[in-house]
Amino acid sequence: MQAQNFVGGTWKSGSGEKILNYNPATREPVSEANSSSEQDVQEAVVKAGAAFELWRKKPAPLRGEYLYQIGMLLKERKQRIARLISLEVGKTKVEAEGEVQEAIDMAFYMAGEGRRMFGHTIPSELPDKWTMSAREPVGIIGAISAFNFPVAVPSWKILPSLILGNTVVWKPSPETPATATEFTRCFEDAGLPPGVFNLILGDAQPGQFLVEEPRVAHISFTGSTETGKVVYESAAKQLKRVSLELGGKNAIIVLKDANLELAAEGIVWAAFGTSGQRCTAASRVIIEEGIYDQLLQRILQITSQLNIGDVRDENVDVGPLINENSIEKVEAYIKRAVEENIKVHCGGKRLEGLPGHFFAPTVLGPVDPTSPLAKEEIFGPVLCLIKAQGLDEAIKINNSVSYGLSTAVFTRNVNHAFTGIKGIDTGIVYVNHGTTGAEIQLPFGGTKDTGNGMREAGQAALDAFSEWKTIYIDYSDKLQRAQIDTDLL
Ligand code: NAD
Repeated sequence: MQAQNFVGGTWKSGSGEKILNYNPATREPVSEANSSSEQDVQEAVVKAGAAFELWRKKPAPLRGEYLYQIGMLLKERKQRIARLISLEVGKTKVEAEGEVQEAIDMAFYMAGEGRRMFGHTIPSELPDKWTMSAREPVGIIGAISAFNFPVAVPSWKILPSLILGNTVVWKPSPETPATATEFTRCFEDAGLPPGVFNLILGDAQPGQFLVEEPRVAHISFTGSTETGKVVYESAAKQLKRVSLELGGKNAIIVLKDANLELAAEGIVWAAFGTSGQRCTAASRVIIEEGIYDQLLQRILQITSQLNIGDVRDENVDVGPLINENSIEKVEAYIKRAVEENIKVHCGGKRLEGLPGHFFAPTVLGPVDPTSPLAKEEIFGPVLCLIKAQGLDEAIKINNSVSYGLSTAVFTRNVNHAFTGIKGIDTGIVYVNHGTTGAEIQLPFGGTKDTGNGMREAGQAALDAFSEWKTIYIDYSDKLQRAQIDTDLL
């Protein structure tokens, strides 16, 4: 497939170098595209700027009609888009379809916002004066996304932006141009006016052009913490608005009073789904003293039943890693574990005999909480087991990493559950469920190095992509001074 940019309502190739993209399970080519040059990015920004002047004036309920249409098209094309996700990212069919469902949910949720988008009406401190606040669009949104959720994550950025009256230039991951093309077709076929939504392909360089382009008002970035810092610094020079969704080092705390069978199932799903390449993937299990061996055995049992391979086979549970660099990164961590005399209970090596980038689901333990294995994002199918004396120590260990995305607690004691919820410092907390499984009507995001305090999804997304306008209307026909004329009646 030849993937192209979509700019001002027209498909055309970027004018930069050629990028070849291949299936991580087979290493067979999937698509070919040309990277976007600075001029290509500028052209997309000019089209988005012109479209903004018209789009912002369209009544929000009418903008919502387009989003309903996009949702319907995503629904109709769910299987087709999911197949491309599986091909490019190596996600299983159920996970890929679940991901498209997230975008469908977001389209309908945000379409409904076209008839809500609440502001506030607040009493004034002066008589005969009316005060209120309303949302305004920000302008052109530059959306930059990661490879691992090529449809769901962009939908969290693009759909709230559009309903609010912004226009968008989206640069997806260079690993997923075919999925990005199919996703973009839903916007095209929904009849969005030209320039309201634009796609530019390529990697870091066009991403950087977008961040540096002065007419882009807001950068919404999802990716690694390392890249997020570069983006933030560069955007700060122009005092540009930025929202960052970055890495994680998520933990599952398992207490003695937990349903251990449920905990083990939740752990394996959260750790090895998408081969551990989810920002919310469980990378640590912090286990209360006394149940370590029992839980370990159950985790190993369930892990041993996982089928690993090409996800076109529907019996496969765990697909490939995205590329050779990811395999090498995981291998380096396993080497480190061996050096630290940490026991490799299962996995620990790439799968030979398969053409793609497969790494066996790996369980390591016990891992010292201060080890780099327990602190750094591995982004592969590697689970580190850590021992803790009790809940207080488990919370301390959980909070001792620089990331703050998602933590889960397994317990059947309501006091422990609430102590966990209060003490854990991540943006998302689950009780009796693994660290993954976000729903689109709730805020999504993390603390510390996982971001810059912004949230995506839910009502929080409206805050990310709008400006508040505060309005004072004085109908007293005289000069009334706030804070000074305090007793006018
Ligand atoms: P990455 O940082 O390598 O790339 C992310 C995006 O940034 C890509 O589109 C890339 O082309 C672009 N990019 C790279 N350099 C750039 C630059 N200098 N300026 C502008 N854009 C640039 O990340 P990845 O490997 O695609 O994804 C994995 C990472 O994403 C993990 O760390 C994961 O935790 C994180 N992630 C976070 C969330 C979240 O919501 N918190 C969700 C998904 C993924």
